Amino acid sequence: PSALRALFLDTVPVRYSDIGGQASTIAKLRECVEWPLCHPDAFARLGVRPPKGVLLYGPPGCSKTLLVRACATESGVNFLAVKGPELLNKFVGESEKAVREIFSKARAASPSIIFFDEIDALATSRSASDSSGGAHEGVLTSLLNEMDGVQELVGVTIVAATNRPDVIDSALMRPGRLDRMLYVGPPDQQGREDILRIRTRKMSVEPGLDLEQIAQMTEGCSGAEIAALCQEAALLTMKRNIDAQFVPQDAFITAAHAIKKQITPDVIE
Ligand code: ATP
Repeated sequence: PSALRALFLDTVPVRYSDIGGQASTIAKLRECVEWPLCHPDAFARLGVRPPKGVLLYGPPGCSKTLLVRACATESGVNFLAVKGPELLNKFVGESEKAVREIFSKARAASPSIIFFDEIDALATSRSASDSSGGAHEGVLTSLLNEMDGVQELVGVTIVAATNRPDVIDSALMRPGRLDRMLYVGPPDQQGREDILRIRTRKMSVEPGLDLEQIAQMTEGCSGAEIAALCQEAALLTMKRNIDAQFVPQDAFITAAHAIKKQITPDVIE
């Protein structure tokens, strides 16, 4: 709906149908993000405060970013994305200024979502961050100030993502800030089959490809790893025969054997 959209033209819009599994997370995300932005009147009518922000947490590559992007697309609101570490790579004082700028842009573009990816880089609790924490404190303070709203944040929802919820400063999680936490976990068997179906939609694959078998072999894999597996299976097929017409089942199987899983049991809830 505004000029800001132009900033994001390079990113292909993601839809809920591009995400495998995660149906219940999508439903919860819609309550926390889409309802406040698209139906503020319903909250007013029932006399409750809409949630202001959500923290998505869970192991890497399990579709946190994808979910937020889809949520923005499907609800037709503006989307501002910031990576925590990028905000920090600025001169002293510049990070704070950047935080203020993001919020003022988001207000101007409302209804909008601000997405802070890798929020732990900005909002590590003082106890968890040892001596290096001091440099980040100004950024965290600015972030909290903006959320509390010198100017009230109307029509702006904040979504943050992290792989390390344990190090997030509890100040960020108080009511009226990131008041909800949503766990985004690795896909189950059905989820993996869905992801495989989505990822092979545009590929040329062996007719009757057995997605169930490939899904069984990828237990414990993230969505990102399953996406990489499809890519790898195609490369393998080309390596065998550059004139191949489609990617056969056994290339997927070989690729599945070769995956080094990134998610270790300690990052699963
Ligand atoms: P990180 O914590 O590393 O930032 P993330 O949880 O934000 O990871 P995404 O960036 O959303 O993960 O996912 C990485 C890529 O993996 C996506 O761009 C997509 O290609 C693929 N992917 C992950 N999960 C799914 C899924 N459920 N359905 C389809 N593709 C997926």
